Amino acid sequence: MHVTGKTRVCAVIGDPIEHSLSPCIHNAAFKHLGLDYIYVAFRVRRGMLRGAIEGMRSLGIHGLNVTMPHKIEVIQYLDRLDEYASMVRSVNTILNRDGLIGYNTDGVGALRSLRIHIKDLGDAKVIILGAGGASRSISFSIAQEAGELVILNRTVWKAKELAERISKATGKNVKWGGIDKIEDEIEDANIIINATSVGMHPRSSESPVSVDLLRKDLIVFDLVYNPLETKLLKEAKYVGAKTIDGLTMLVNQGAASFEIWTGEKAPFNIMMEAALKHLMKSRNEPGKVNFKV
Ligand code: NAP
Repeated sequence: MHVTGKTRVCAVIGDPIEHSLSPCIHNAAFKHLGLDYIYVAFRVRRGMLRGAIEGMRSLGIHGLNVTMPHKIEVIQYLDRLDEYASMVRSVNTILNRDGLIGYNTDGVGALRSLRIHIKDLGDAKVIILGAGGASRSISFSIAQEAGELVILNRTVWKAKELAERISKATGKNVKWGGIDKIEDEIEDANIIINATSVGMHPRSSESPVSVDLLRKDLIVFDLVYNPLETKLLKEAKYVGAKTIDGLTMLVNQGAASFEIWTGEKAPFNIMMEAALKHLMKSRNEPGKVNFKV
């Protein structure tokens, strides 16, 4: 990498940030396409966000990824939001071009991940488990594309509130209920998405869906990426279902950010390979089993 006075700077901001995969994913993509960009990570603590965004303006930082805990608070410091970010009210990508524009690429990242197995969601019934930040950031885009969407969550009022917000924003009817409704809903479903933290390290022996409910004709998508192959995905593979892991989602949302900053088609396979290599290396280093966007 040859850094010059013309090199464009992109970065991820969040706290914690040291295990972020984004620098390795994006720098591999810049290098592959011969783009004069560099990507770094900045730890920005709560209370320091306004200063960080002002810093982006004054230093001319070209693009940022925004991660926990800043995805909602950052909105007030930006000049404009794209349509999806304003619907979701959460920003994970900023472009510095004639002002700061906020985007959310999680929705498109989820759709691209699903399209590995299904091109058109128009006839599909999709169940999303969870109503937290991850669910919120993907479920509006899925509602727009899917034949039917059902949101199930342990805390039922959160599923109701999210489903009602999505219905209002997209005009689509979204069903909601408690996570215990899964038995009834899964019978005629085509896709099930885990957007809860169930199955995540250190509780990796848990799955949000009993194996008896899984079928060969389902697509099972788990947003959890630590571990890479969750219990849910292992059991889905065992019954012959098609599966999508959280790393595929993570790289797809990163690829969409890359395209916003560069205007170039992101080299998905290069980014995925870089992420996997980084993870393999980290596994051998004590204390580095965890990783984040
Ligand atoms: P969050 O905002 O804290 O929401 C957590 C969700 O999990 C809530 O719906 C919560 O239900 C549910 N939950 C937690 N423990 C549960 C349990 N024991 N039984 C049933 N439901 C339970 O977290 P988040 O940001 O949405 O993240 C969720 C997961 O997605 C995490 O594993 C995260 O790493 C992953 N993620 C992946 C990507 C990616 O790119 N692959 C991106 C973002 C997040 P209640 O409302 O009832 O508490």
